[in-house]
This record gives sequence, C-alpha cells and structure tokens, in this order.
Amino acid sequence: NRRWVLASRPHGAPVAENFRLEESPVPAPGEGQILLRTVYLSLDPYMRGRMSDAPSYSPPVEIGAVMVGGTVSRIEQSNHPDFTPGEWVLGYSGWQDYAVSDGSGLVKLGENPEHPSWALGIMGMPGFTAYMGLLDIGQPKAGETLVVAAATGPVGATVGQIGKLKGCRVVGVAGGAEKCRYAIETLGFDQCIDHHADDFAEQLAQACPAGIDVYYENVGGKVFDAVLPLLNTSARVPVCGLVSGYNATSLPDGPDRLPLLMGTLLKKRISMQGFIIGQDYGHRIDEFQQEMGAWVKAGKLQYREQLIDGLESAPASLIGLLEGKNFGKVVIQVAKN
Ligand code: NDP
Repeated sequence: NRRWVLASRPHGAPVAENFRLEESPVPAPGEGQILLRTVYLSLDPYMRGRMSDAPSYSPPVEIGAVMVGGTVSRIEQSNHPDFTPGEWVLGYSGWQDYAVSDGSGLVKLGENPEHPSWALGIMGMPGFTAYMGLLDIGQPKAGETLVVAAATGPVGATVGQIGKLKGCRVVGVAGGAEKCRYAIETLGFDQCIDHHADDFAEQLAQACPAGIDVYYENVGGKVFDAVLPLLNTSARVPVCGLVSGYNATSLPDGPDRLPLLMGTLLKKRISMQGFIIGQDYGHRIDEFQQEMGAWVKAGKLQYREQLIDGLESAPASLIGLLEGKNFGKVVIQVAKN
C-alpha cells in the first residue's frame, strides 16, 4: 500500500519535498469493515489549503498524515452486509492505494457505472459547486453578462455552460490561447480572454460592452481587479475560490484597494457572498444530481478530464494545477479499472 503523506508545510508554492511516499502492507478490514482499492483520485485546489495550518473551514492535514482527497474506489473485500466486492463507491480515501472503511460517508456508484471518475468532477463536488454558486447566489437571468475565470476547469466550464443554458452572454477568462479556443468552440462561451495578455483588462472591458451582471469568482487577483470597474448596479458575485492567491505568502504590493472595493459595493448595491459547497449546500445534493444528470444525459454540457497515470504523479500534478498547467479536471488514475 503506497501512500503520500504531508512531510512538511509549504511556504509559498508547494514543492516535491513537502510530500513523502510511504509503503506499508495492505490493511486488513475488521468486523463490519470493507477494504477499498482506490481507482481514481481527485486533485483539487482546496488541497493547498489543507497543507497549511492557517485557520480555515476544515482542519489541516497533520504532518505525517495521508494527504486528503476525494476518491472513486472498488470494494476489494467486505465484512459489511451493505457492500459487495466489485462495487464502485465515491469516498474520501485520500492519496493512497487502499483504505479501510466502515462504510460511513461512502456513496454507492453501482456495479458498472458508465463514467465512474465523473463522480469527482461534473457529477460531483466541482459540478455541484458550479451549479449552486451560480444558480443560488449568482441568480443569472437571460440577457445578462456572466464572467467566470478558470474557465476550462471543472467549476468554471460548468458555470459558463449553465450560464449559456440560462440565456446569458458568457465571457470566460483562461490562461492561454488553447484554453480560450476550447472555451469558445467546445464549451460555447461567447468570448474568452487570456489573462496572460498585457492588455487583459482592456480586452475584458471590450468583451463586456454592457458591463458584468454576474461575476463568478474563482481566482481573485488581477482578474478581480479588471472585473471590479465593470460590475453593474445590482451585480452578484458568488465568491467560490481565490486560486491566484493560494500560494501567496503576503498581501500584494500596491495601494490599498479596499476603499475602492467597499465604495463600489455600496454605490452599485453589489452582493458578494462566499460559500463552502458541502457545508452550505449539502442538503441540496439531490436537486443537483437530478438536473445535472439530465443535462449531461441530454448532451447539453461538455466535460473535459485530464487523466494522469499513477499515484506517484500526484504531488507534481497538484503543484501544476495551482499554476494552471492542467487542462480540465485533474484525476489521477491510481489503478486500472
Ligand atoms: P481548476 O481545475 O480550474 O484549476 C485552477 C485553475 O485556476 C488553473 O487551471 C488556472 O486556470 C487558474 N489559475 C491559477 N492561477 C491563476 C491566476 N494567478 N490567475 C488566474 N487564474 C489562475 O480548479 P477547479 O475548477 O477545481 O476550482 C476552481 C475554483 O473553485 C478554485 O478557486 C477552487 O478553490 C474553488 N472551489 C471552491 C469550492 C467551494 O466550496 N467554495 C469547491 C470547489 C472548488 P487558467 O490556466 O485557465 O488560468
């Protein structure tokens, strides 16, 4: 049983030395327990937060403990009446080959799911985040302009496509020409602006001639700086993530922009609301699964997954995800299915 543990806490961007690969015998399930074989491991931006011991909505991973993470596993052995070997389950085994569970918190995916790994993406936590943040907090209306960054990731791509289903003009922000082309040609966004461009703020303003009614905040930083003056009266800003700052070790240089932000919120009566998907919307998962399941089945939403081979790739892949090196939902294939 291989497992990645947190060796030390990062200062700034995580580095390989913050992780350590350990090997131990495959654990044996006791009475009432099951043995899970990890097939897919999800990598997500929040993992950077768990590596740090700064106060947050969830406790940090302890030094020497297995890195946390959502997983899709097969049941290898079962001493539990409700689980049969061979079944697929969604769980939270973390960065390891095997885990023992008493079944609590596991979601059954059946004997033969069509796309088991999608439970970590469009049909799982990131899809749910996109759906609730946009529809419940963003309240998009037909004809409005919606802007979303990290536009080709699992959250952003889903936000933009739901925005199109609701009749919005959707402008994405992404890193690089290839991602922007994909957002327009495959995801159906009206425009997508490369945030690496020197004149990014001007390009964004040109793409939003009627201002911005909903800004779904995934990244913060210079993207938010460019968005702020474009926000319309009564705009809604679901604050989902601030990934551009997850590796930051200090506040950005430059003038204090808090008065500008507060003044804009006041004068334009803008609503900004943060949310943590599981904690705020866990009770609405059925609603999401039904509507998203129907959209996906009907082919109304596109989904791009970046499958990376081998548990050994996890640290480098997480480091890359935080820098935008991924293209689509990052999933580690830990074992063959
Ligand atoms: P992604 O797969 O989209 O990965 C993050 C992306 O952020 C990168 O690929 C990169 O895309 C972009 N990015 C990184 N650095 C910068 C930067 N400096 N400026 C602009 N963009 C940058 O991640 P997810 O779809 O999984 O998550 C998106 C956001 O949603 C994250 O902030 C995450 O923390 C948040 N989240 C929040 C939840 C909640 O409950 N509140 C739940 C789940 C996710 P590009 O190359 O296109 O710039």
